[in-house]
Amino acid sequence: MCGIVGYNGKEKAIEKIVTGLEALEYRGYDSAGIAYFEKDTIQILKKKGRISALKEILPKKDAQVGIGHTRWATHGEPSERNAHPHRCGKFTLVHNGIIENYLELKNILQENGYSFLSETDTEVAVALLDYLYEEEKGVLKTLEKAMKMLRGSYAFGILFEDTPDTIYAMRHSSPLIVAEKEGEEFIASDVPAILSYTQEYYLLDDFDIAILKPNKISFYHDGKEITKEKLTFEGSLESSQKEGYEHFMLKEIHEQPRVIKDTIEYYFDGTKNSLFQNLPDLKKYQKFHIVACGSAYHTGLVAKSWIEEIVHLPVDCEIASEYRYKQVFYDSNTLVIVISQSGETADTLASLRKAKKDGIDTLAIVNVIGSSIAREADQVLYIKAGCEIAVATTKAYSAQLALLSLLTLKLALIHETIREDEFLEIRKQIETLPQQMEKLIANPQYQKIASTIYERDDIFYLGRKLDYAISMEGALKLKEISYINCVAYPAGELKHGTISLVEQKTPVIGILTVSEIQEKTISNLKETAARGAYLILISNEEIKEGNELILLPNIHPLLEPILAIIPLQLLAYEIAKLRGCDIDKPRNLAKSVTVE
Ligand code: GLU
Repeated sequence: MCGIVGYNGKEKAIEKIVTGLEALEYRGYDSAGIAYFEKDTIQILKKKGRISALKEILPKKDAQVGIGHTRWATHGEPSERNAHPHRCGKFTLVHNGIIENYLELKNILQENGYSFLSETDTEVAVALLDYLYEEEKGVLKTLEKAMKMLRGSYAFGILFEDTPDTIYAMRHSSPLIVAEKEGEEFIASDVPAILSYTQEYYLLDDFDIAILKPNKISFYHDGKEITKEKLTFEGSLESSQKEGYEHFMLKEIHEQPRVIKDTIEYYFDGTKNSLFQNLPDLKKYQKFHIVACGSAYHTGLVAKSWIEEIVHLPVDCEIASEYRYKQVFYDSNTLVIVISQSGETADTLASLRKAKKDGIDTLAIVNVIGSSIAREADQVLYIKAGCEIAVATTKAYSAQLALLSLLTLKLALIHETIREDEFLEIRKQIETLPQQMEKLIANPQYQKIASTIYERDDIFYLGRKLDYAISMEGALKLKEISYINCVAYPAGELKHGTISLVEQKTPVIGILTVSEIQEKTISNLKETAARGAYLILISNEEIKEGNELILLPNIHPLLEPILAIIPLQLLAYEIAKLRGCDIDKPRNLAKSVTVE
């Protein structure tokens, strides 16, 4: 969520900060701003809207030290007034996150004569620094004191007027990295911002403070100077570039065959006796809680269906923002599995902490190496998706599914709920997955179907059991990037109310991969067709009903969802394109949701 970039170096600070912010554009934002030193004074420029609007007002003469920000509004509308950086006294600051006790602090500050120009929680934080500086005098002491008073999540990039050669940074529950290369120093909220300079970086931990002075970066924690380990980003700069594709989303859809292959090969070797490598021992667990948000939650629903149907063990799959606050029932035989692409999803992280606090075993499935969830979970499994830039996830979703299917397979073997011949068949089919995915990606039907339905205001996705879980992701994909109101429904439930919304030509997309329930779903789909619905079927069987049929390969249910999602991703993509939407950066959305 939001982007922070700071630069302290020899030249072109403004240019480099803006380039860094552009590399973070995928995270989602609604205004942008920059602060830089012009001699000994701090200049601030900000604009509502895109970075391109900010660029138009930037000065010709560049600077050497500065901080920049793309804001994803939480407190106060997207506007120039609320955009960051915010200034109070000698402090200027950019912020990612939410200060939860901002009202309480605002009252105290107002009683002490402070007034505020914006509606943001951020302006309260910068005023607090100014207020505390009066007592503490040193900037480091001020930051340490502020940390004790601020509640919530924050990554801060800070300038102080009396030290024009210095950037200060600190964090709690929002990611922030620090990097250096030949006398140039950076802070950033994510790695793509620094990749054109270096792949090495330091990751700030909660309550760390960094001070970046010319040729010297110092780190502090709990009042003491500390040393930090340098990390190396494993991906490449190309992975954060479009490489000829019109959109990152399309590129990432096309990367899926490779991502699935890499993910599966890392954890499963069908040719060896050991079969699974790098997977945890799952023997003791009799019950699973899967906790996640958005698309990751949808992979959890698929896994719930797999584990319950194939392994016969109970699974609760919960939305993290609910789970963190609800009464949950687990014991020492429960494994809590949290899933998050970024590894920074605030609600998922809070759910993980809740389970850990209760002494329950935790396992994280994460894409971003070294992220907060990866570091805090008892065990972590990385999907091999590489850098995902498009806000709407595709390759991380399917890689999460691939990993969950392997966990299910391992459990099925442990509990002997799968026959030898069935296992051997799955093993064979796993090898064909990337090729099958490629064929589905190359299917020419999506554009044509999209052109028939893209102007509709409502689209329904229907399925039962596993197919319902897949429908939910299909509907979310289309909602996210096309702004069409899509509803995923268990097919049998529609007639209990929602079918009243079906009109002449309302598109209804039926997912039909679960053979034992297929006839029932077809009947439900026909009920909608009888009321005028335009039926688009996605099935692994030649069904004669409906207006359109997208045929999937017939493969084991443990692998089918990994294929079935591809037509849904590409349909969403083609529809959004026809509607002229900003596919990689949909309105109101952020990539990594680091706030509650
Ligand atoms: N809560 C802050 C605001 O609304 C920061 C939002 C962000 O992370 O971009 O300004």
